[in-house]
Amino acid sequence: MNPAAAGQVSASAETRLSHKAAQFTESVIREMTRLALAHNAVNLSQGFPDFAAPEEIKAAAREAITRDINQYAITWGAKSLRNAIAEKFARQNKIQIDPEREITVCCGSTEAMMSSMMAIINPGDEVVVFEPFYENYGPDAILSGASPKFVRLHPPRAGDSDWTFDADELSCAFSDKTKAIILNTPNNPTGKVFERRELEIIRDLCLRHGAFLITDEIYEHMLYDGARQVCAVSLDGMRERTIVINALSKTYSVTGWRVGWAIAPPEVTSAIRKVHDFLTVGAAAPLQEAGALALRMPDSYYSQLASDYLRRRNRLLGILAGAGFKCFKPRGAYYIMTDISNFGFANDVEFARYLVTEIGVAAVPGSSFYNNPADGAQQLRFTFCKKESTFAEAEKRLAKLRSRG
Ligand code: PLP
Repeated sequence: MNPAAAGQVSASAETRLSHKAAQFTESVIREMTRLALAHNAVNLSQGFPDFAAPEEIKAAAREAITRDINQYAITWGAKSLRNAIAEKFARQNKIQIDPEREITVCCGSTEAMMSSMMAIINPGDEVVVFEPFYENYGPDAILSGASPKFVRLHPPRAGDSDWTFDADELSCAFSDKTKAIILNTPNNPTGKVFERRELEIIRDLCLRHGAFLITDEIYEHMLYDGARQVCAVSLDGMRERTIVINALSKTYSVTGWRVGWAIAPPEVTSAIRKVHDFLTVGAAAPLQEAGALALRMPDSYYSQLASDYLRRRNRLLGILAGAGFKCFKPRGAYYIMTDISNFGFANDVEFARYLVTEIGVAAVPGSSFYNNPADGAQQLRFTFCKKESTFAEAEKRLAKLRSRG
């Protein structure tokens, strides 16, 4: 999202169209994919794998269609998938959730986030968001009617192994208007994995201000260098005020299936289910059946996934460093945020356009992750959810950057 460009709406359109829609632009990330296609560039922008999804999951989807699971599922999700979500959550977090009253299956985590926000936000409510942030959270706040309050994640300095936030700054962002804080761990775009002691700071503020925590855990299985995922639901006092957002998309390499879910206390789930029902009715029924099988994959699937992504992370770190980028090494998720100040471009958008059109590699301008575009003007995000031949081609093309002068 680029709020700066969002004001460019003609006067007549301004009166006929939604004021909310006028406040944001189309997704910069998705636009970069279209530019990559138009220029035949290697696409290291949008976070979708270019390798195959697991064979057994694809077979389960085909089988579900053959078995004629082709009509609407229960609006809040097929029972088989909700049971599998509850079982996996209990296995991982040692917490029992009730699949009948605490889960809503949605069209991807994108819809799960939107339905959750629409279920809890009233006019005048504020939502705290760590910045840089996954660009959807800006429009999500506007569409649900919340005012976002941004709190900066600072890049690692000497002695830090990860991005950090200032506890006082976070505390100042909370007020009696705060309805929720949005957390994304492991984090897109920084790769930060929030530690228990950081979650406890957030927990204390949520309890003090009666706020919800919405935690987007879509990259929960992509962890490196000993990073550990702590789900906020496991913290004392957070069971009743946490909404967990997750999806099949990243863990099972099926971003196009559009199956995600929200886990929330029963009262909150009732509201999420109502919003969800009238927004989309339900996620694709046969793919929900395949999801039930996916969530029961053995532990070895997740450890293999993490080690494959570690190898890809290290490969892309090497390529980018070799091309002259200063990289922030991620401890989770599948992105590398870079500092581009070495290259002498006026801003990230100019550099991203040069990379796509002249070098043939697409990345996402850093400004799309900030409320004020100037804050990300010397950053660029690359994804490493790609196969080796993609890396090899990107490496060849990026070598041209070095010789540029
Ligand atoms: N949340 C985060 C943090 C993401 O990075 C993405 C996609 O890149 C999504 C949500 C979208 O997930 P889904 O495809 O399940 O809607």
